[in-house]
Amino acid sequence: MTYIKGMEDLHTHSRFSVDSDADVFEMIEKAVSLGLKAYAITDHCEVNRWYTEEYYGGTKIYPYFDFKGDYERSVSFISGIKERYKGRIELLCGIELGQAQEEPEIAQIVVDDKRIDFILGSVHQLPKTEDFAFLEYGEMTRAEAEDLLERYFKEIDRLCAWGKFDSLAHLTYPLRYYIKNGIEVDTAKFDGIIESALKRLSENGKALEINGSGIRQGAGMTFPTVKYAKMFRDVGGEMITLGSDAHYAKDVGAGIYEAAKEVKAAGFDKVVYFKERKPIFIDI
Ligand SMILES: [Zn+2]
Ligand SMILES: [Zn+2]
Repeated sequence: MTYIKGMEDLHTHSRFSVDSDADVFEMIEKAVSLGLKAYAITDHCEVNRWYTEEYYGGTKIYPYFDFKGDYERSVSFISGIKERYKGRIELLCGIELGQAQEEPEIAQIVVDDKRIDFILGSVHQLPKTEDFAFLEYGEMTRAEAEDLLERYFKEIDRLCAWGKFDSLAHLTYPLRYYIKNGIEVDTAKFDGIIESALKRLSENGKALEINGSGIRQGAGMTFPTVKYAKMFRDVGGEMITLGSDAHYAKDVGAGIYEAAKEVKAAGFDKVVYFKERKPIFIDI
């Protein structure tokens, strides 16, 4: 195990996420055993699917609805056990808020919830389109893949303009699936939109997440890599968070060492975690 004592993992999922069965206590014990200073559970809350399927007129584009229920179950449970870990680890009640730019009024309910320490802002899907995790890549041409990617970065820019989260999660998320499916695209042609998004992030005083999931999942890279961490710094960005995106206890802390290396290479010597929505810096 690579040395990550004293660091953080601020992006993990438990059984309150639709795509995880992980036991909350096992996740936390793994984080404690790694010697992490700060650890957040950030279950999924896709605000464009907050209500039940009936509310959306039975659309079948998405396989799962009612994130309102998942949200309440996760936040009431995690905020309720935080006290037990005092002195052992800084356990944080987080949430991974998906597509907030599509439903700002619902997202505001989460923003106003005082039980929450930390909000990750994510884009997993384009409007009226399935999550990038579930798109069909077999027949997809490079031009189509690039078009989707451009639309993704535009949604990221919109999300950053809304800007009421704490850290932007896994920028370049579609690459996780493109690489897996052998689709090669160069994000450089979208650097203008990406720079605009990172500038908004910096001006809003928000953090950029370096997500380590690609290290264990075979992409061989973090999301994003040092290139965009550096671009963020160049436009005035000051705060970085680290996350594994673990959905199992065994993956807590995975890729954090590699993510921290990218952060250092970009010129940062600290990362940040959020407690009661306020940043606390730690050395890396
Ligand atoms: Zn995500
Ligand atoms: Zn996640």
